[in-house]
Amino acid sequence: MGKVYLTGAGPGDIELLTMKAARVIKEADVIIYDRLANPDILEMAKDGCEFVYVGKEDGRHSVPQDDINEVIYQNALKNANVVRLKGGDPFVFGRGGEEAAYLFQRQIKFEIIPGITSAISAPAYAGIPVTHRGVAVSFRVVTGHESPNKKVSQIPWENFKTDDTIVFLMGLHNLPQISAKLIEIGKEKGYPVAVISRGTTKDQKVVVGTLENIVEKAEGIPTPALIIVGHVVELREQLQWFKQS
Ligand code: SAH
Repeated sequence: MGKVYLTGAGPGDIELLTMKAARVIKEADVIIYDRLANPDILEMAKDGCEFVYVGKEDGRHSVPQDDINEVIYQNALKNANVVRLKGGDPFVFGRGGEEAAYLFQRQIKFEIIPGITSAISAPAYAGIPVTHRGVAVSFRVVTGHESPNKKVSQIPWENFKTDDTIVFLMGLHNLPQISAKLIEIGKEKGYPVAVISRGTTKDQKVVVGTLENIVEKAEGIPTPALIIVGHVVELREQLQWFKQS
């Protein structure tokens, strides 16, 4: 029986891959991956490495998580080194915990290889520090997938009244509802927001605006993209360093 490496692929810039991830990718007999910000990573694999795609195609449903779990398990029965590669970090909205638990229950050995999450690195490449002395003492990484109009929300919107930084992942399609909700709980209409698309890659695009105008400004921006809310966004004026196309 083989071992499964639940591995973070980082946010896009290939040099943000960890050395450990690079090592297991080079040694992999099979790599199970979904849509990656940088598919060039797969070129590091050895000759004969098998690739299994379990992500979603444009406009189609993704492979159900139960099926992915089973694919990983079946590959571990047949191969020595199985890499399950995920964008960013496997435990930040990556469902890596569910995959690891599935393997644990079937007595398959696994390792977790953390990756640089887009939640901090895309802002960093946009010149936005997620915390800053005197500006934000903490940051939250929140799913933007849940509609703020949902009757029973799991997201503690009322806690977002402070000036702590909020990073929404998977939230671009809910941007109108998210900005309206933040105004509804009491944030000013002029409160700073940025949308960062394809962060850390040559296609990175950053749009800066306010809760009131960000929807209009970010119209048509491609995914993957995240939303960052907070006064830290204003620091971009001084800290912008990464040249974007
Ligand atoms: N495990 C990943 C996040 C998975 S959820 C991580 O740690 O980064 C997928 C969401 O991540 C996307 O909807 C988007 O909001 C964000 N994301 C991933 N890569 C990104 C990138 N290069 N630039 C901006 N946002 C990104």
